[in-house]
Amino acid sequence: MKTGYSIKTWRMRLFCPEQDMLAKTEQLYQETVDFYYKILQTRQDIWKDNLLSIQRELELLTVPGRDGRVPLYTPPHGKLPVYFRRSAMNKAGIAVKSAAVVGENQKKEIIFPEKIDASLTFFKGMYRDISDTSVKLKLWDGKKWKWISSQLEGRPFPVNGTVLSPSLSHNGKLLMLHVPVKQENSDARTAKERVQTGSRICSVQFTNTDIFAMCSIQDVQGKQLAAKASRGGNTYRYRAEQALKKLEKSQKFTENDNVPHADQKHYMYLKHLNEHFAHKASREIVDFCKEQNADLIVLPVYGKDFSRMAMYQSGNYSPFHLSTRIRTYLMYKAWAEGILVLELRAEGTGKICSICGAEGTRSGKIFICKNGHQLNRYLNEARNLGLRSRETFRKNGFIKT
Ligand SMILES: [Zn+2]
Repeated sequence: MKTGYSIKTWRMRLFCPEQDMLAKTEQLYQETVDFYYKILQTRQDIWKDNLLSIQRELELLTVPGRDGRVPLYTPPHGKLPVYFRRSAMNKAGIAVKSAAVVGENQKKEIIFPEKIDASLTFFKGMYRDISDTSVKLKLWDGKKWKWISSQLEGRPFPVNGTVLSPSLSHNGKLLMLHVPVKQENSDARTAKERVQTGSRICSVQFTNTDIFAMCSIQDVQGKQLAAKASRGGNTYRYRAEQALKKLEKSQKFTENDNVPHADQKHYMYLKHLNEHFAHKASREIVDFCKEQNADLIVLPVYGKDFSRMAMYQSGNYSPFHLSTRIRTYLMYKAWAEGILVLELRAEGTGKICSICGAEGTRSGKIFICKNGHQLNRYLNEARNLGLRSRETFRKNGFIKT
C-alpha cells in the first residue's frame, strides 16, 4: 500500500537551568545568521541554488580548508560547531531565496528585509536524548560549548513519530521548544483509489447546538451504516461565557491601571478551552471512523458570503464558530491515521430528504419530508452530503453504478 507522512509541531514548555547560556546562544545565533545573510546578499549567482549547495558555498567562504584554504570571511567568535553554523546558514539561505523570489515575481528590485527570522533552531548535533520530558541542548557560555539538560513539559510524542530539529520560541515570559514530529502515514491512496475499492465514507455536519458535529457513515452504495453525534457544545458555550464575563470584569478593574497583561490569564483560558474542545471533537470523529472502518471524511463547505454570515450569526465562542478549528485538527489527525479528508459544497443539503429525495421542511431539530419521513435535521444534512459525495464520485467515473 502507498504510504506518506505528515509533520506536526509539538509546542513544549522548556525549563532550562542555564537561562544565561541560552540567552548567549540565542545572541550568537542571531549574529551568525546576520553574518551569513550579509554575505549571501552579495552573491546573486547562487540565490537560485538549493539550500544544500548554498550551504556548501558558504562553508568554502567562511571555513578554513584542510588544504590550507584561507576563508574570505570569519564568522562571529571564529570557529562555530558545524551544525550550529549549518542551521544559521539555512535560515539565511531561506531568507535570501524568498526575498529574491518576491522581487522576481513583482519584477522589482530585490529588497532584503533588515530583520529576518532567526529563532534558534537546533540541528542534529546540537541536541540529543530528546523525550517528551527532557532534552540535552548544546549551549554557549561565552567561551565554551556545553551540554545542558533541560526539562520539557507538554503533550507526549506519538509512539511512531520521528523527532526533527526543534527550535526555541518565546511566549511572553515562557520559554517554549517547538518540536516538529514526523509521522508515517499507513495509507496515502487517493480518493479515487479508495472509492474504487469500496471505501466507507463518513460525512459530517457542524452545528451550533450541543452537537459539535453530526457524522453519518455510508458504504459506496449510499447505505447508512452508522451515525454519531459528537457532543459538548453546551458545556463549551457555558464555560466560554463564564470566562468572557470574568474577562469583562477584569477589564473594568484594570482599564486605568495601564497594566498590559492583566487579562492574559483569561485569554489563555479561552485559548485552552478552544483547543481542548476542538481536540476532543476531532478525536471523536476520527475514532468513530476507525471503529467503523471509514477511510474518507467529507466535510461541508459553503460560499464565502454564506460562511461569513453563518459565523457572524452564531457568534464568537459558539460551537459552530469552533468548527473552523475542529476542521483544522481533523485534517491532521485524520491524515496521521491514514484517513483522507475531502470538502464538498453543501448548499441545499438541508432542503431534501436523505431517505427518499423529496422536499421537506424543518421543525426545530426535526426534518419532515412530503412523504412523511422524519429525522434529525443535522443527520439529514450529513447523510445528504455523503450521498452528494457519492454522486460526485460517480460523475467522475470513480464508481460505475
Ligand atoms: Zn422522505
